[in-house]
Amino acid sequence: MFNYIFGPVPSRRLGMSLGVDLVPRKVCSLDCVYCEVGITTKLTTERMEYVPYEKVVKELSEYLDHSPAPDFITFSGYGEPLLNSRIGDVLKFIKENYPRLKVAILTNGTLLSDKNIRAEIMQADLVLPSIDAATDKVFKKLNRPEKHLKVKKHIQGLIDFRKEFKGEICLEVFILPGYNDHNEEVSELKKAIREIQPTFVHLNTLDRPGAIEGLHPATKEQLEDIKNKIDFENTLIVAAAHSSKKNKAYRADKESAILETISRRPCTIPDLRNIMSLHINELNKYLDILEAEGKITTEFGERGMFYRLK
Ligand code: SF4
Repeated sequence: MFNYIFGPVPSRRLGMSLGVDLVPRKVCSLDCVYCEVGITTKLTTERMEYVPYEKVVKELSEYLDHSPAPDFITFSGYGEPLLNSRIGDVLKFIKENYPRLKVAILTNGTLLSDKNIRAEIMQADLVLPSIDAATDKVFKKLNRPEKHLKVKKHIQGLIDFRKEFKGEICLEVFILPGYNDHNEEVSELKKAIREIQPTFVHLNTLDRPGAIEGLHPATKEQLEDIKNKIDFENTLIVAAAHSSKKNKAYRADKESAILETISRRPCTIPDLRNIMSLHINELNKYLDILEAEGKITTEFGERGMFYRLK
């Protein structure tokens, strides 16, 4: 049983990814309204050894010495990994002891304005920072930052990081209708992206319930429209967004098939994948929706977590 590593889990962007949690739930410099981990309980920019370096590297060694190599080791998890003051040491440990393994860092990017923090992660292979807002008004409404953070500094940190970092930077822009999808914000985001010059831009939207209620994902058409407006090469829509026209029928089919299956017997995710031939990301999305709607529930059994009708 591990406390600080999880997976490996299949990831749309990283293949089989072994996750490393460097902060507890939920320590972050932002409190994004769409956060699937929930509300930020410690909103801070203060760095410390939130989880102990020694314990993290012990778990990593235990796993990596006895299991097939994952495609990536990814610092992600319950909050902002750059808040852990030993992130550079954990990265160094991996690179010294498992030099063939690739390391990715999922970060909100707000701490990259600090040149010492940028220096700590130069050994990473891939960094996936976020930028959802290019004006303080939207930054405050959507990302609800710690009070000292300003969007200009955030953008400048990303520009500086791009100049110094030799690996790939995949900039994630999370589109949330009613928050950052209006023309003025998209136009400001476009300017910021051109200044940052990431390797890729990934447009994403809501896939699971967020930290607050009443949020809606952008449709495929909205994301396509924003992609055209941003007009930056290497921009991909990575969201599992559906066409507004096709969404309903498609969802109803899959949902009823899942409900029918688990009405006969509780099933784990691997059971459902085998029975329904669904990709795990897609399956997770339906399970999340059915759970949020109160139609299904979970319980632990010998083979792990089982889904059953409520
Ligand atoms: S930065 Fe990431 S972890 Fe932090 S609140 Fe936003 S979505 Fe959640």
